Amino acid sequence: MNDIQTRFEHCAAVAREHAARVDKEGRFPSEAIEAIRERGLFGLLSAKEVGGLGGTLRDAALGIRTLATACASTAMVTCMHFAGASVIEKFGRRPEREAVARGEHLSTLAFSEAGSRSHFWAPMSTAKPAGSGFVLDADKSWITSASHATAYVWSSKPVSAEGASTLWLVPRTAPGLTVTRAFDGLGLRGNDSAPVQARGVGVEGAAMLGEDGKGFDVMMGVVLPAFNVMNAATSIGLMEESVRLVAAHAGATRYENAGMSVRDFPTARASIARMRVRCDMAATLWLDTLAALEAGREDAQLRVLECKAACNDAALEVLDLAMRVAGGAAFRRDVPVERFFRDARAGSIMAPTSDVLYDFIGKAATGLPLF
Ligand SMILES: Cc1cc2nc3c(=O)[nH]c(=O)nc-3n(C[C@H](O)[C@H](O)[C@H](O)COP(=O)(O)OP(=O)(O)OC[C@H]3O[C@@H](n4cnc5c(N)ncnc54)[C@H](O)[C@@H]3O)c2cc1C
Repeated sequence: MNDIQTRFEHCAAVAREHAARVDKEGRFPSEAIEAIRERGLFGLLSAKEVGGLGGTLRDAALGIRTLATACASTAMVTCMHFAGASVIEKFGRRPEREAVARGEHLSTLAFSEAGSRSHFWAPMSTAKPAGSGFVLDADKSWITSASHATAYVWSSKPVSAEGASTLWLVPRTAPGLTVTRAFDGLGLRGNDSAPVQARGVGVEGAAMLGEDGKGFDVMMGVVLPAFNVMNAATSIGLMEESVRLVAAHAGATRYENAGMSVRDFPTARASIARMRVRCDMAATLWLDTLAALEAGREDAQLRVLECKAACNDAALEVLDLAMRVAGGAAFRRDVPVERFFRDARAGSIMAPTSDVLYDFIGKAATGLPLF
C-alpha cells in the first residue's frame, strides 16, 4: 500500500469509530473530515507547485472506497470535496488553489436546483451584472457539506454568453446565502446535504470559474469523470464491507437446535456468492474506467457513464441480499448492514441518476446525441 492509501486507512479508522453516532444523530462526520485534512488529503488533487500532493483520480477513488467501508457519509463528503477541488485546481485563482492544498478549504458542488432537479446541466438560477461584479439568485436543492464547506462550486445560467451554464466559486458565508433546512435523510445522514437559497448574492468577476457559458464543458470534461468514478467508489466500499460483515455473521451464528450456522444453508452461501460476484463485476468495470481515463481510451466517456450506474445499482442488489442473509439481526441493527443498506440507496439517485445514465448509454448505443 502506498503512502496516500495508508493515510486514507488511518482516516477510515477514525471514521469507523464515529460512524454509528454520525448516522444516528445525523451529524457531520467532523472527526473523520478533520483527520483527512490533518493528513494533507484535502490537497490530494492539488498540484505540487501550489503545495498539494499532486495525486491522481485513482488515488482519490481508491481512498474513497476505503472510507466507504467505514462511513459512507465521510466518503461522500470527501467525494464532493474532490469534485469541487478539481474545478478550483483547473480554473480557480492561485490563492484558492493554495488554500485547498493547505487544507484550509473544504469544497463541494452546488449544481442541483429546485427548478431543474437532477438535470444539473440545465440550471435555472441566474447571474446578472452588478457594478464591477455579479449578483447570483438561486434555489439550490442539495449541497453536500452545505453548512461546512468553505465555498461552493456553483452553477448558474450564463450572464450573457451562449451556452447552458456558467460556474462560480461562492463563499459559504456570502451575505444573501441561507441554508433553508437541515438535512434529515434516509441514508448518508452525516452528509449535511441541505438546500441553499441565494438572494442577491454579490460576487466579484474573478469568482467566475472558466468562461461565461462554458460551465457545461467543465461539468462534462472535469466534474463528470471525477464524480462518477468517486461516487462509484463509495458504492464499492459499501459492497465490500457488507460482503465481509454478512459472511462473518453467517459463520458466527448458531442454531443450537440443529448444530448449524447460517453458512451451512446452501441458499445463504449462494446469496453471499451472488453478493461477491456483483461486487467484483462492478469493481472490475470501475477499475477499467480508471484505466480507460488514464490511457485516454476512446471508450473512456462510455465507461464513465457505465461505471456509476453499474456500481450504484450493484450496491442496491448487494445490500438487499445482505439484509436477507443477515435476517432479523440486520433488521434490528445487531449487524451494522442496515446502515450500509440505507447509505447505498443514495448513489443511484444522485445526479446523473441511474435512469439518466441508462438513457445516455442507450442513446450512445443507438447513435443518438446525448443532449
Ligand atoms: C445524499 C445526497 C447528496 C447530494 N449532494 C449533492 C451535492 O453536493 N450537490 C448537488 O448539486 N447535488 C447533490 N445531490 C442532488 C442529486 O445530485 C440529485 O440532483 C437529486 O438527488 C435528485 O433528486 P430529485 O428529487 O430532484 O430528483 P428528480 O429529478 O425529481 O428525479 C425523480 C426521478 O426521475 C428520474 N429522472 C429524471 N430525469 C430523467 C430522465 N431524463 N430520464 C429518465 N428518468 C429521469 C430520476 O432518475 C428519478 O428516479 C445530492 C443528493 C443526495 C441524495
